[in-house]
Amino acid sequence: MSTETDSPSIFSRIVAREIPATILAETDRVIAFPDIAPKAPVHVLVVPKTERYRDVVELAAGDPGLLAEVVEVAKSLADELTDGDFRLIFNTGPNAGQTVFHVHAHVLGGGLEEGTLG
Ligand code: 5GP
Repeated sequence: MSTETDSPSIFSRIVAREIPATILAETDRVIAFPDIAPKAPVHVLVVPKTERYRDVVELAAGDPGLLAEVVEVAKSLADELTDGDFRLIFNTGPNAGQTVFHVHAHVLGGGLEEGTLG
């Protein structure tokens, strides 16, 4: 399991191609790949390449343009992989289920249960 002090993070190691992943989208600053333990028919992680920001609160404060790029990549993948509707989840803090402290968005879509947040 990852800890708060992991560096480089598991996602930085995917960016560096040290850990394999199927890259679904990549820009200069963002990368996206399927979650290894999917919680929905489509479950993709969209990750800023920098591990400077541990969570979405830090990212929004430090580089709102990069946060906007994460959302743009999420939307574009949802258009490609689902009917275009999706959930965008940023677990923020260990008590909210965050296990990797390198900010990332979960994009969930395709056959989601209605009326639930989980
Ligand atoms: P968090 O719990 O921090 O919000 O999300 C971390 C996510 O990273 C989890 O859903 C977990 O399944 C995923 N994950 C952890 N290690 C790997 C890995 O090596 N490859 C991929 N593709 N996903 C991973």
